[in-house]
Amino acid sequence: MPILVQKFGGTSVANAEKIRRAAGRAIEAKKRGNQVVVVASARGQQTDELIADAKEVHPNPPKRELDMLLSTGEQQTVSLLAMAIDAMGHKAISFTGAQVKIMTDDSYTKARIQSIGADVIRGKLDDGYIVIVAGFQGMEAGGNITTLGRGGSDTSAVALAAAMGADFCEIYTDVDGVYTADPRIYKKAVKMKQISYDEILELASLGAGVMHSRSIEFGKKYNVTIHVRSSMNNNEGTYITHEVPLLEGILVSGATIQKDLAKITLNSVDNKPGNAARIFEHLAAAKVVVNDIIQTEISADKANVSFTVGKSDLLTAQEAIEKIRKGVHCDSVFVRENIAEVSVVGVGMRSHYGVANMMFKALADLKINIEAITTSEIRISCLVDIKDAIKAYETVCDAFELDKTVEKRNQPK
Ligand code: ASP
Ligand code: MG
Repeated sequence: MPILVQKFGGTSVANAEKIRRAAGRAIEAKKRGNQVVVVASARGQQTDELIADAKEVHPNPPKRELDMLLSTGEQQTVSLLAMAIDAMGHKAISFTGAQVKIMTDDSYTKARIQSIGADVIRGKLDDGYIVIVAGFQGMEAGGNITTLGRGGSDTSAVALAAAMGADFCEIYTDVDGVYTADPRIYKKAVKMKQISYDEILELASLGAGVMHSRSIEFGKKYNVTIHVRSSMNNNEGTYITHEVPLLEGILVSGATIQKDLAKITLNSVDNKPGNAARIFEHLAAAKVVVNDIIQTEISADKANVSFTVGKSDLLTAQEAIEKIRKGVHCDSVFVRENIAEVSVVGVGMRSHYGVANMMFKALADLKINIEAITTSEIRISCLVDIKDAIKAYETVCDAFELDKTVEKRNQPK
């Protein structure tokens, strides 16, 4: 019998009615001839509430204890789900991560899964149970409970699917799939039928928070097709899979916009080995997350170094730069606040030319100035002034026909 893993996010199990609906889905899947493993998150905003509880008694809670507390959210959901399935006349059993041997390293609050023992689950599946596993948690070698980082239930689910040899993992959530663009800003965005692992990872790094990134890495490595879909209806959602010929022919699959960014430029620093390392070492020590970095040589012995950071990190970044500035003989520091980054992502860029040009032309037609450009193999990003951001995003989405499903686009296929 095929094994199917179904994951229910917090909003999909927020109350008794939704828990019953999730239970019903698991039962249906079993009736269709699958062995069913369910992974669940904490109900509603419970993880946030537990964090708030912790902060009430400790300004900076010890991480081991925090994980002990946070893991209880998921534990409640899985036992309730098992009860709901039982009440509907089917066999179900719930487990914590530790009970099914989801082993992690010992980085509390952001642990990484190292191995999963499939035996316990397999035994119960063979006995006819629907097996329900608490997401987001595991156990380190010493027996302590760990959690996988916010949103980590996705990773529990896909890792379990991989460990059980399942081909599919269904992610039930409150949106009906992955969209070509942010539908709150670009109203014409459409749901994608499929997208590749690489594209979704790139979109996630640009802040389009669809799935926990580690879950995509597991899916890619162990060939688990991930189906992101709504828990409120039976519509097909978006399949996350390896690149298929259809996807390769699409220039751009999705576009993102990041608004709260600032850019810092160090003008005319010494163009010498080790200088970039020194600058970014200081930023890392100050725990500043750096997005894009651009360095260009401006003469034989001088270079300009620019990078972007989230606005909330700007002050810390400036302080860090002040400390290193003299050491690298930087002439002046230029800070540009109020910028936004518009990006397009698509595996088709690997094999088609002219994609960057299409993006620049769309912006030029509206006389929008591009402050900086960065690229990866499957991404092009333009920094623009915040006042132009929405306009820029919309025109780029239009240019790549992100208002149409792939079949209806006019671009080279
Ligand atoms: N409950 C956890 C969180 O809120 C894990 C998850 O939802 O995936 O981050
Ligand atoms: Mg989530």
